[in-house]
Amino acid sequence: MPAKVIVRNLSKRYGGVEAVRGVSFEIEAGEIFGLLGPNGAGKTTTLECLVGLREADAGELKVCGLDARKHPQEVKQRIGVALQSTALQDKITPREALKLFGSFYREHAEPAALLARFALTEKADARFDTLSGGQRQRLALALAFVNTPELVLLDEPTTGLDPQARRELHAEILQMKRDGHTVLLTTHYLDEAEQLCDRIAIIDHGRVIATGAPHELIARSSASQSVTLVTIPAVGAERLARVPGVNELRCDGATARFRTERPTETLAALAALLAEQRVELVELQVKKASLEDVFVGLTKRADGVTSPGAEQASVAPKASAGSRGSPR
Ligand code: ATP
Repeated sequence: MPAKVIVRNLSKRYGGVEAVRGVSFEIEAGEIFGLLGPNGAGKTTTLECLVGLREADAGELKVCGLDARKHPQEVKQRIGVALQSTALQDKITPREALKLFGSFYREHAEPAALLARFALTEKADARFDTLSGGQRQRLALALAFVNTPELVLLDEPTTGLDPQARRELHAEILQMKRDGHTVLLTTHYLDEAEQLCDRIAIIDHGRVIATGAPHELIARSSASQSVTLVTIPAVGAERLARVPGVNELRCDGATARFRTERPTETLAALAALLAEQRVELVELQVKKASLEDVFVGLTKRADGVTSPGAEQASVAPKASAGSRGSPR
């Protein structure tokens, strides 16, 4: 199956600001794909170019098999978009908004079905300005689904929501994938990306610095594992610091915390040391690196001037793919 989204060498500048500098990635059909990056990295600009809200300066953009730069109106019929905040008139109700948005499309779903799907039936006739943040976000998703889109683009869909509302939206996003939609989302929540996304691209300073499945990026990264060690009596900090692979050592009484990039070697040497010193092991915890560790490591290293080889962390896509907003 051809890729649902192909972005090649996308560039966009705002006056003197090079917001996007040669971004490339592909999204397979049926995938949940995450765009991650620090504030100002170029995620929203990339997304806005894809959905025709901004004109790219250069690059190739293919969406649902169409050239998105040449046929933006046709692309809009096939996608659903939920931008960072949905601005609707205060007095409009969810039912009216769904009817209005539906009228912009050749084919559209019935408002009642969308209200039920996004748990808004009870609020169907409530004014927009009386909806809670979570209800507004659910309405944004419902609006993104009004044309039964092949590809859904969600820009920070869970920002500002409480943990329960976030969980509900996660369930909605996973349901979109199960229903065969391709999903592109941007997020600042690394745990969310790790949990939801089949693959991600990390963008920094307008460039892609890594792409791949979250677990592949973690496995390939040099992000170190964290170790907590409690012994009676304490092993001295000086002695622990000499164990191969031990980095960022912090000792507090009987508890020592450190990181290691070579856990097997470090733990073997540690076990020998404890036996030799005849100290009692009370607790030993080894925690794998998280996507957050990888993200922080990569974006810190990239810091402004990314090296030409910065796309090194690329991992081949799995066969599998989409966000919200103004549909027009
Ligand atoms: P965030 O995570 O904070 O939403 P982002 O990764 O989505 O950030 P963009 O909103 O795409 O980043 O912004 C990329 C760069 O382009 C930033 O330096 C931003 O200040 C700049 N920028 C974005 N929109 C405009 C605009 N309309 N005019 C001028 N500069 C802009």
